Amino acid sequence: MGAEDHRFPCHNCGSDLRFDPGGDQLICDHCGSVESIDHGPWDRTEAIEEQNFAVMLRATQDSVEMEEAQTSQCPNCGARIEFDTAVHAKECPYCATPVVIDTGATRQIKPRAVIPFELGQEEARQAMSDWLGSLWFAPNGLTEYARKGRKLSGVYTPCWTFDADTKTRYTGQRGIEYQTTRTVSRNGKLETQTQTKVRWTSVSGRVARFFDDVLVVASTALPEKFRAGLGHWDLTRLEPYLPQYLAGFRAEAYTVSLEEGFEQGRAIMDRQIHRDIKFDIGGDRQRVQSVDTRVSDITFKHILVPVWLAAYKYRGKSFRFVVNGQTGQVTGERPWSVWKLTFTIIAVAILAGIAGYLAAVNQG
Ligand SMILES: [Zn+2]
Ligand SMILES: [Zn+2]
Repeated sequence: MGAEDHRFPCHNCGSDLRFDPGGDQLICDHCGSVESIDHGPWDRTEAIEEQNFAVMLRATQDSVEMEEAQTSQCPNCGARIEFDTAVHAKECPYCATPVVIDTGATRQIKPRAVIPFELGQEEARQAMSDWLGSLWFAPNGLTEYARKGRKLSGVYTPCWTFDADTKTRYTGQRGIEYQTTRTVSRNGKLETQTQTKVRWTSVSGRVARFFDDVLVVASTALPEKFRAGLGHWDLTRLEPYLPQYLAGFRAEAYTVSLEEGFEQGRAIMDRQIHRDIKFDIGGDRQRVQSVDTRVSDITFKHILVPVWLAAYKYRGKSFRFVVNGQTGQVTGERPWSVWKLTFTIIAVAILAGIAGYLAAVNQG
């Protein structure tokens, strides 16, 4: 996916066409021409085809599954982004840091499938300002700035998805709660106290689960909370990779390798297996002592998902917002207005004071 690979000149005026979010077409912002996407022999099963994990790990750098990616790395957040080669200085869409275009190329596993943008820029901006508007503590100036401000960047973010079959043997303990009562003397009076105790018995067993499409964001440009906040993707909307979907957008190259990605995927699977074990143990409480998981039939997909990004500098502070380009879900750094916050703290203090006074009066 070299930058020039997804530029499509308008047949009418020669300007660059861009992919039209939500539509299966390219449009020209200059003359208004519309061109439908030529899918060629279109086989959607290709989009959901799994690739063998072990085979890919052994694959050589010359494999047909690899490609050269022309990317430049942001000196601040580390994102590796494709930039238009015609322009020599650009801003990182993640953190608004200027990035100098270099001509370095890296070998990458090719993306197999893409979720095309469904939300256009204006819909994404609307979702973002609705979200900011719903935060009472957001400074009004920032909300206004976000509504009218600069452009959002549409970026295709790289992800890995993993499938795996797991079989787990475990040992642990099942706890059954029971009540005991005893009579104690307190302040000269006899009282009955109830206590909950737990009777533990050793258990062992097996659980099995097939994991389907465990998703790991393969970009480290965004902090973890943003990655988690990107939420869920409807993977039934995956399309076979076509460079036309990237026209007018940027594509980010992965910075989390296939192996690192699988480790993160394994951690997600292990948490689910732990829940499965606790459920299997049953009783009132559970202790898990040993876990032995066999993983087989590991496959993966390398996919691109659509994200709208906004990075603002507002009163010397950076604010970042991420809008899921498929669902419109917004995640962001929650901005706090000092004035609104101070006002609220004072108001709460006054109310607490009044409540305390009334309580004292009632008791007196
Ligand atoms: Zn045109
Ligand atoms: Zn950056």
